[in-house]
This record gives sequence, structure tokens and C-alpha cells, in this order.
Amino acid sequence: MPKWITQVGCPYCGASCDDLEVLVSDDGKRVLETRNACAIGNEIFHHAQSPSRPKLPRMRQPDGSMKEVSYDEAIDYTAKTLLAAKKPLIYGFGSTNCEGMSAVARVAEKGGAVLDNCASICHGPSFLAIFDNGYPSCTLGEAKNRADVVVFWGCNPMHAHPRHTSRYSIFPRGTFTAKGQMTRTIICVDPRETDTAKLADHHLMVKQGHDYDLFDAFRTVLRGHDIPDEVAGIPKKTILDAAKVMKNARFVMIFFGMGCTHTDGRNHNVDIAISLTRDLNAHTKASIMAMRGHYNIAGPGQVWSWQFGFPYCIDLSKGTHAHMNPGETSSIDLAMRGEIDCFVNVGTDAGAHFPIRAVEQLKKHPFITVDPNICMASEISDLHIPVRVVGVEEPGVVYRMDNVPIQFKKVVDGPEGVPSDEELFDRVYERMCELTETEPIWLLAKDHAKAATNAEQ
Ligand code: SF4
Repeated sequence: MPKWITQVGCPYCGASCDDLEVLVSDDGKRVLETRNACAIGNEIFHHAQSPSRPKLPRMRQPDGSMKEVSYDEAIDYTAKTLLAAKKPLIYGFGSTNCEGMSAVARVAEKGGAVLDNCASICHGPSFLAIFDNGYPSCTLGEAKNRADVVVFWGCNPMHAHPRHTSRYSIFPRGTFTAKGQMTRTIICVDPRETDTAKLADHHLMVKQGHDYDLFDAFRTVLRGHDIPDEVAGIPKKTILDAAKVMKNARFVMIFFGMGCTHTDGRNHNVDIAISLTRDLNAHTKASIMAMRGHYNIAGPGQVWSWQFGFPYCIDLSKGTHAHMNPGETSSIDLAMRGEIDCFVNVGTDAGAHFPIRAVEQLKKHPFITVDPNICMASEISDLHIPVRVVGVEEPGVVYRMDNVPIQFKKVVDGPEGVPSDEELFDRVYERMCELTETEPIWLLAKDHAKAATNAEQ
């Protein structure tokens, strides 16, 4: 009999929904149907079943074609290439679990690599602002239960995080928001009339790239000062009305996205958004949250912060200490300056999402992709190593956009012989230790930890 598995996590966007139900075949190998997922989440589960998915690593041949090789050969090549490089870059990690991120970090330390994740091209500016100005944030549960004014600034959850509005921010009925949408006033700040803007009670169609000015105007009004008749394309009255709505709220929740981090001002936009949140707290309760993109892109920030003290752009090439300085140690900057001599793309698609000039620079050196699927990065790689899909074939811990950890389940068996990211990188680490005739201290530490846990149980 096919079986419904409940409380399944969705390995796609930062909403990290954990209420999916998945019908699996009686042999436990096939996903037949999903419930509760949005169209994107549903597709992830069905796509994992694609018969065209690679089941063995593929190595580039002298004639340009790709040839299947064994996992042992792929691991040996990866270990030797990382050890031979002076400054390898290991990048990605939006789409894997924390166990995989931790295993890759051990390899990066051994290889003296730069370790970076997709935040570098996404919410990295938010990190910079948070370092400067703090992060008055909360959990999505608090937003659901308390927020009666919700601001979407430079983000479009209706397309990027499709169930965000129904689970946390507009429609759900919470403890103190019992009438759901009727309890909430929605403000959307976006230059376009997005589907999120269409749901809003107030849409402030800000002039592209002038978000800083508008944040400044709100702060000025909240502090009791006058503003010009128009700021950033928005009439004074509209700003005064929206400021009044925020001031009279019981709980204001500000969600922000790429409209702030990818436009003029970048980290300064987020910096002043945080200051606005702080100012609002003089009148009411207010909180702010970055709309993190991938289901576990908050994970590397957590895992590497406790491993190295930094969330991204971590240069381990000095061998003695970790160093972080976005602009100097960030992936795109390193690639553009031609400072990288080996690139490992893990659980992302740098081939599709990096600027073409950065890809051209990286392509001058060994380029390895570790990903379950064929993607643009895999197709320009010298080596593509397939792994299991987290949340479908591999369980693990992921961090939701509000940094709440969630244990994702495995719902079906992965393709035979295909390892998880964690298993793969543990083997790469072991091989690097063999080649350098050093003790695999981290694997021994892991064994000790496992033995201690088993003894406790
Ligand atoms: S909203 Fe995001 S996490 Fe939830 S089902 Fe859709 S893609 Fe998955």
C-alpha cells in the first residue's frame, strides 16, 4: 500500500514549510503525490524522480565530452585538485543540510580554501548592516500570532516564497490575530505592481534605487519633523498615512528582500531599515526580517559561525586563522580579480547565477560541481559529482529564514550508490588526509561523538 508521510519539509525556499504530506509507493522508492506544497515545492519532489538524473560522477575528457567515472576516482580527483591549488574557492550551500555544510567546512580547512555561500550574492549586504546595527528580529511564529501591520519592502513573496503569506504573514489566524487577513494592514514598497503589491492596503511605488530616501523620510516623520512634498516618487500624504498606520499598530513586522540588498545603497538600505525598526519601537513593538532565499541558506551562517566565527566569505588560506572581509574575500570579487585557482560549486548553480565575467575567470582553472542535478554549472564543469537530494532522499537539519532549526525528513531512498553531501565530503577529507599523511582528526572526533551518543542511549 502506498503510504502518506506527514510533517515533511520542503527543500526549496526560505519559508522551509514543514507541513507537507508526501505519498510514497509501497516499495518506498517513488514519490506519487504531494499535499500542501506550492507549485515549486511540488515540482522539487517530482523532479528528484527524473530518470535522466545522473547516478555516477562525470569527468571532462580531452575531447570535451563527459565520461562517467567511479566515486573513488571523483573523490581522488577532488582531493588532489584541492591540495594542489593555492587558493581554492568552495561556494554554494543554499540547498544542502547543516551536516553537509559542516563536512565541507572540514575539507575547506584542510585545503586552505575560501569558504563562501550564496549570501555573498544575496543577503550578504544584510549581514554587513546587521554587524553594524544589530538585528531586532523575531520568529515567524511571532509574526503570525502578533503582527497587525506587515510591511513587505523590496520583496515579492507571492512569487519567491509562495506560502509565506498563507503560513505566516497575511492570511493565517494567530493567537492575537484571530481574524487573519482582516486583522492585518499590509504595506508594500516596490517600484512594480507585483502580485504582493496587489494584496496590499497601501502600495508605495518607490522610485527604483531610492529606498534609502524613503526609509529616511519615514524616520524623519516618526521623529516629528517635516518632509518635502514628495520623496522617492511618493507624495508626502501617502508617507504620512503609512507612518501613521505603523505608529498606531500593536506589532509592526517588516520583511525585506532583494529590492533593498541588490539596489543602490545595498547594506545602507538594510542599515536604515533596522534603524527605522528601532525608531518604531519608541511608539510600538516592531521587528524586521530578511526574506532569506533558499530553504537552508541561513544554515551556513549558523554552522560556520560556530565553526569559524564568521557566517560567509571565510578565507582559510592562511592556515592559522579564519579571516573575513567581504569585498576582499567574497566569491565574485575573488573571481573577478583572478585570485582563485580551483572552484568547487556545491548545492547551487554558479554557472547560471554568477556574472559571466566571473564564470570566465573561474573556468580558467579546475571547476567541480557537486549537485544532484544537471545544471549550467555541471555542464561547464571538469567534474560533476551527483549527491542525494536533502529533504527528499536525505534527512538533516535546516535553518528557516528566521533562524529556527527544523529537522527535515527523508521520504524515499536515493539512487543506489549515490552519497549525501556529508558522506561525499567526509570521503574527500579522508582522502586528503591520506595524501598528506595526516590524522583525519575531525572524522575521529565524529566517531567519538557518535559512540558517546549511542552509549547515552
Ligand atoms: S513556499 Fe517555499 S518552502 Fe513552502 S512549499 Fe513553496 S517552495 Fe516549498
